[in-house]
Amino acid sequence: MAAATALRRGSCLCQTVKFSLTGPPARHIQCNCLNCQKASGSAFLTNILYKRDQYKIESGANSVKIFEDKHTDSGSVLERAFCSNCGSNLSIRNTSNPKMSDNIVVCAGSIDDNYKHFSPQSELFTHRRHAWVPEVKRVKKPDQAKM
Ligand SMILES: [Zn+2]
Ligand SMILES: [Zn+2]
Repeated sequence: MAAATALRRGSCLCQTVKFSLTGPPARHIQCNCLNCQKASGSAFLTNILYKRDQYKIESGANSVKIFEDKHTDSGSVLERAFCSNCGSNLSIRNTSNPKMSDNIVVCAGSIDDNYKHFSPQSELFTHRRHAWVPEVKRVKKPDQAKM
């Protein structure tokens, strides 16, 4: 498997926005923060960490809107990208932490391929986790992030 050249595709619900991802992600993270709950309309967001240069909008860039999320549990300012037509979450960027500026967090549900065979390797804001949601068993080895 040539992981370095592996390509994934993703899209929003209405298919206006399409994107591609090149290479393996760094990490899968379940975020239980209140803002991810609000943004997803669900109990958590499953976030996949990539480098920005791995992520490319292939079509519909004009329909991508950014919500600047300033009131976060972490205190960071997040840019939450979503499709302005259908409202699907697409990605998140932390713009207040310079160490995170090369990263992009892709919302797992937006990925098209059969990308259902992974488990989150860590979770954030466990005190916000809904009672029915099981605890994420931490995976320490970074190579577990391979696709
Ligand atoms: Zn859409
Ligand atoms: Zn969150």
